[in-house]
Parts: sequence; C-alpha cells; structure tokens
Amino acid sequence: MTGHTGEHERTMAFADIALGQIRALRQPATPRNFEVWYTYATGYKPSLNQRINDTLKQNGALSDKDLEEIYEAYLAPTRLSDRIDSVGSKVMGEIEQVMAMIDAAAGTATSFSENVASATEKLGQSKDRDGLRMIVESLVQSAKEMEESNAKLEARLSASKQEITELQINLEAVRSESLTDPLTQLANRKYFDDALAAAIEEARAKNEALSLVMSDIDHFKAFNDNYGHLTGDQVLRLVAQAVKQNVKGQDTAARYGGEEFAIVLPNTVLRSAITVADHIRRAVMTKELMKRSTGEHLGRVTISLGVATLHKGDTAQSLIERTDACLYAAKRHGRNRVICETDPEFSAGGGVAAAQVA
Ligand code: GH3
Ligand code: MG
Ligand code: MG
Repeated sequence: MTGHTGEHERTMAFADIALGQIRALRQPATPRNFEVWYTYATGYKPSLNQRINDTLKQNGALSDKDLEEIYEAYLAPTRLSDRIDSVGSKVMGEIEQVMAMIDAAAGTATSFSENVASATEKLGQSKDRDGLRMIVESLVQSAKEMEESNAKLEARLSASKQEITELQINLEAVRSESLTDPLTQLANRKYFDDALAAAIEEARAKNEALSLVMSDIDHFKAFNDNYGHLTGDQVLRLVAQAVKQNVKGQDTAARYGGEEFAIVLPNTVLRSAITVADHIRRAVMTKELMKRSTGEHLGRVTISLGVATLHKGDTAQSLIERTDACLYAAKRHGRNRVICETDPEFSAGGGVAAAQVA
C-alpha cells in the first residue's frame, strides 16, 4: 500500500522549485546544486534557507563559490557517504603510520642484534680493559637507542589506540545513522528487513511465536493537501512516537515506507500483537493535533493496522504480504481499526488464499 503516486507529486513539487531557482539564477545544474536547492525547497534545514536568503539579500545572487560553501557547511556533514569516506581515510592513515613505526622499530631491533652479535665476537678476541670498555660502551649505546625507539613506538601505539577508539565510536554512529529513519528516528526499511529475517530465524530455532504489525495513516493524502507536507511530517513524527511508546525493547519498530510503519514482535502470539496494535491505534486517535506556528486546530488523524503471525511455511515476504492484506482489509472495512489474519473481515476480503499458506 505504498503511496507511490502521492510521493511522486510531493517530491516533484520540490524538484520543480529547485530547478526553477537554478534556471532563474542561471546556475550550473549539477547534482550538488540541485541538492542545495531541493533542500531549500523542502525547508527541512531552516539554517540553510536563512543563509541562502541572507546571501541573496546581500549580493543579489549566489556564486558557485557560495553554493559550494553552503553545500560543505550544511549538507556534506550530514552525508553518510562523505562521513564514511572520512572515517575510512582516517583509518587508512592510522594504519600507514603504525606500519611505518613498526618498520622503523624492526630496523632498530635488527641493528641492535647485529651490534650484540658483533660485540659477542669482539669479546672473545679482546684481552685488555680498554678493549672491553669500548665493547661495553657500544653495547650500552645500542641498548639506549633500542630503549628510545621502543618508547617512541609505545607512545605512537598508545596515540593510535586512542585514535582508533574514537574512529570506532564514529563508525558506530555512522552505522546506526545509516539504519535510522531521519524524520521519525525509528528503524529504517533496511534495518527492518534485517531485523525481520533475524527474528524469523530465531523464532524457528527457539520454537517461539513471532508476530508482525503494519500500519498506514488514514486519508493522509488529504491531510497533506489541506495542511501542507511539513505539517504532514509532524504528524508522521507523532504517529512514530505513539508506536515507540507502545513497544518493548525486544520489538523492532520501523518506518516501512512513506506513512507506513511496521513492528516486528518477537516471542509474541497473535492475540498479544493485536493488543499492541490497538494500543497504538488508540494512542494516535486521541491526539488532538495543533499547528504549532499558528495554533490552528487540525483535528485528529487515525491509522489502520494489520496483524499476522508467523506460520510454518512462511517466508519474510509471505508474512509481510499477509499482514499487508490484513491492513488492506482494515482500510476496506472503514479504517481506524485493527484486522488480524483470523478475523472474518480478512477472510471475506480474499485473504483466505494467503491464510491457507500455513
Ligand atoms: P488511505 O486511508 O487509503 O491510506 O489514504 P491515503 O490518502 O493515506 O492514501 P495512501 O496511503 O496511498 O497515501 C499516502 C500519502 O501519504 C501520500 C502522501 O501524500 C503521504 N506521504 C507519504 N510519505 C510522506 C512523507 O514522508 N511526508 C508527508 N508529509 N506525507 C507523506
Ligand atoms: Mg500508504
Ligand atoms: Mg494512508
């Protein structure tokens, strides 16, 4: 039930504005410039809009250099691929330096053992005190050099260790961001797919139940049309919050698509999953929406939900399809309701074939 058409219209409007600006200001239509103007059109980064507006006011135009600087300041730091590149090149730099230190240390160790070998040989030949003194002095000198080189290596390694620990933290942040939906801070689709596959495997291994809930906001297109997509985005956050507040630690709540959410409920039978779904439904419908900027009352939104549970012959795909079919049945039977795979409404709506998979 992904709203491809709505998404197309919504995003095309931004794209048109972005292209219009590029055209009006006769700028190069590069992907980077497009991204700057597209972000401007969405209004998602107020600081970027402010900077563009200020520059335009001051200079009447945006130079290539301005655009480059704006991209670097507002978009590059949030670009995952840029950040991964930066962590990657730092790791490579660190490894190179440590390798060079190890090479240098290995060189010092070799020359030390050569000195020891030659001193041993000379010791056998030396008869007088002066000769012995010279041999001992040269040994002491070599030992000192060795000690200094070891101290340097140790200091470098401990600096590297610290740097690598920081890089690990950075990498973990990048990884977790790459699995999080930026608008709602819920898991994204990629995380959901992995979590569902892992949960199915675990449920089978432990012989436990596993249920899936999917939801879709009712008449959301109309809401967007009435109040604008930015207010629509706030509603998405609100629904995400209602989802978050009604799941436990072991559950995975994700933004499945535009205005659709999915929750993987490990170790949960159908009946309990229905309860969770209904709590979310009630939480959403009781929220009175108000536009913060104007205080305008926007009424309420409702959501429809589908619930299904893992059967013997299920794959992730068939479980998702059955849950989605339940959600579709909830829409057909009046919205703002939860329909599960054992409900007569589901069977009556052609969901029987899917249910018989089990
Ligand atoms: P239904 O009750 O049948 O679900 O009606 P609907 O209007 O919600 O229909 P559908 O689910 O097909 O439409 C999805 C709409 O959700 C289209 C689009 O306007 C809106 N939408 C999708 N993703 C986003 C988003 O990220 N932000 C906002 N503001 N709106 C979105
Ligand atoms: Mg939808
Ligand atoms: Mg909808």
